[in-house]
Amino acid sequence: MNHVLRCTGCGAAYSFNVERKLCDKCGQGLTLEIKPSFVEEPGEHGIWRYGGILPAVERKFRVSLGEGNTMLQHGMRIEKSIGVEELWIKDETVEPTGSYLDRSSALFVSVALSLGYERVFTYSTGNLGASLAAYSSKAGLKTHVQVKPTIDVGKLCQMIIYGAEVNVVNSFEKRAVKGAIVAVEHDPLINEAKKTIMLEILLQLSERPPDYVVLPMGEGGLAYATYKMMMELRELDVIKESTRIVGVQPEDCKPIVKAFEKSFDTVEAEAEPRSRIFDLNVANPRFGNAALKAIRQTDGLAVSVSEKEIFEAISLLAEKEGILAEPAGSLALAGLVKLVRNGEVERDSRIVCVVTGSGLKDPRVMREIAYRKSNLGMLIEELSGGIRLGSTKTAILKLLSEKNMYGYEVWRGLREKYGVNVKIPTVYQHLSNLVEKGYVRRVEAKRVMGRKREYYSLTERGEAIV
Ligand SMILES: [Zn+2]
Repeated sequence: MNHVLRCTGCGAAYSFNVERKLCDKCGQGLTLEIKPSFVEEPGEHGIWRYGGILPAVERKFRVSLGEGNTMLQHGMRIEKSIGVEELWIKDETVEPTGSYLDRSSALFVSVALSLGYERVFTYSTGNLGASLAAYSSKAGLKTHVQVKPTIDVGKLCQMIIYGAEVNVVNSFEKRAVKGAIVAVEHDPLINEAKKTIMLEILLQLSERPPDYVVLPMGEGGLAYATYKMMMELRELDVIKESTRIVGVQPEDCKPIVKAFEKSFDTVEAEAEPRSRIFDLNVANPRFGNAALKAIRQTDGLAVSVSEKEIFEAISLLAEKEGILAEPAGSLALAGLVKLVRNGEVERDSRIVCVVTGSGLKDPRVMREIAYRKSNLGMLIEELSGGIRLGSTKTAILKLLSEKNMYGYEVWRGLREKYGVNVKIPTVYQHLSNLVEKGYVRRVEAKRVMGRKREYYSLTERGEAIV
């Protein structure tokens, strides 16, 4: 490939090389300078239907599992409930591995194949590793993935079942497996394929482009790729108007939103990234400055949302539209709800929310939501391999759901309310076991007549299952 890699931060240029991932000068993400053409290729599948907008890959090396071309659902019931005139949902939950990154894997693995590689190496917070593993299998390549122990279990199992070799590490070692092509979240190739989402949206709403497109931001790559697609299509005279880009980040890690709110020119790294959504817990986004520019140039917005708002959006998508999204996937809708409520997005707008991934990939969060929404918490906990709570522990949780208690009170409550006769040390043993498993916590210690009295209360998890 003879493309130029251009830095999205400082504009430095490099000739294309798959090993070059970032700018030497400023550390920001790189983008491919290509001369795109907008022609439908008959007989091609997935992202290759408009292969001319992507870096050139000979047909015989193109890999596809049928990614892309996802439905743009008219979210009529959410429109009503949040009070906007026209809402569309780009539903990426139906991608082959359940993530929009399948578009990226299709391109990346095809390029790897065309360059003669037999192995792909990646370090991944989840979705990318699972997706690459699937596409590598299709292409006959071996995938090696490094993951952290905090990975979502659904994504880990996916990687293993697709046949990837998975190594668990505490911090990623950016050392490639010998002879492997390295894929990273901020990879220029991985990012380039994300353009196809905006292309499809514009084709699907061809009579009038949307006023807003709302996206989640981690590295900022999707926001930038969306902008790039619009710029390229304008240059090709395919579109005239531009759509305002709205980027959404979780409150616990929002470096791009902070820069937007403070009108900074560049994004500063988040000092303490704390989001439980690992794919979006990016302290130092490599396409942060590029995303910021994309938002400003399109007169767009950036907003952050709390975990509670994210969970509400998951329920909204599922209950009103039949779409099961993972937390990162529901971020766009959570952001939109907030902006509409604050009057920052006009209610009569034509809006597209990009839902990037399926909820089935994150059983932990699905469980948490199911706990809260039903009275089947205890059963769900047991079915998903949690501890089998005996009758005494169950009774203790029920007692503590009424009020915080100290050990002796629990012992008395067990006798009087549940007819459970056990010795006091046994009660303490059950309590400390419940603390260990995360159902109960110690809240305060009081001195009463010279003796320390410790109070216990239910944790959120404990509350959820009672
Ligand atoms: Zn640079």
